Amino acid sequence: MSTQTIVEVSGLHKAFGELEVLKGIDLEVQRGQVVCIIGPSGSGKSTLLRCVNLLEEPQQGKIVVNGSEITDPDVDIDGARTKIGMVFQSFNLFSHLSVLENLTVAQRKVLKRGKEEAERVARENLAKVGLAEKESSLPTQLSGGQQQRVAIARALSMDPDVMLFDEPTSALDPELVGDVLAVMRQLAQEGMTMLVVTHEMQFAREVADIVLFMDGGVVVEQGSPDQVIGDPQEERTKTFLSRVL
Ligand code: ADP
Ligand code: MG
Repeated sequence: MSTQTIVEVSGLHKAFGELEVLKGIDLEVQRGQVVCIIGPSGSGKSTLLRCVNLLEEPQQGKIVVNGSEITDPDVDIDGARTKIGMVFQSFNLFSHLSVLENLTVAQRKVLKRGKEEAERVARENLAKVGLAEKESSLPTQLSGGQQQRVAIARALSMDPDVMLFDEPTSALDPELVGDVLAVMRQLAQEGMTMLVVTHEMQFAREVADIVLFMDGGVVVEQGSPDQVIGDPQEERTKTFLSRVL
């Protein structure tokens, strides 16, 4: 089977004023792959994801998502962004809208889907994350784990080429983490292309095709989970893992 590169980042540099946060990042995600990014706080993981989703503008380097160069100044940013699903640590749901409405708003506004189609897609994705019975609830009536699963279903409803996750379970009470990871695991099994920043080493170990260790704005080490988590070669990776494992 031929591979298809869905995300290609090359030579990416990002600075905030004097602070150089990304110092030349290269990375590739093939269709159907799960790439997990691990690394200490402040190493630039969120900034990297935010560049891939065009929430930050890099100073240098190139990002291609499913064949379109999103760092091209002439790119249709909104069009490109609809193909990239993003799930944050904070769920960012609309608190005054029902769960179903949270899932249909962008489908209708951005993808111009009719009400019926948008609701059909929304219900499919709510069922997928195990929340079919919650469509009429308000976000505040749900647990944090349920809200995060709604956020995942909302992103899926846009039919993204790739899903970006930035520490999706970090804000959750420990007993709610498992349900969110189970949904992500299932997505991975269904062949969704995923780029995941996580501190959940067990998840990375079991689900990732490639693990990438970042520190100080560079990719220090990357490879299979067995290589990077099981048998790290670099001192910085060993030190980090000894703290989190
Ligand atoms: P991580 O997600 O790995 O913890 P981040 O990408 O959030 O790291 O942050 C990397 C560095 O960039 C940190 O030093 C952070 O303070 C800084 N940073 C992130 N966003 C901004 C911003 N908008 N303005 C200034 N500095 C920022
Ligand atoms: Mg972060």
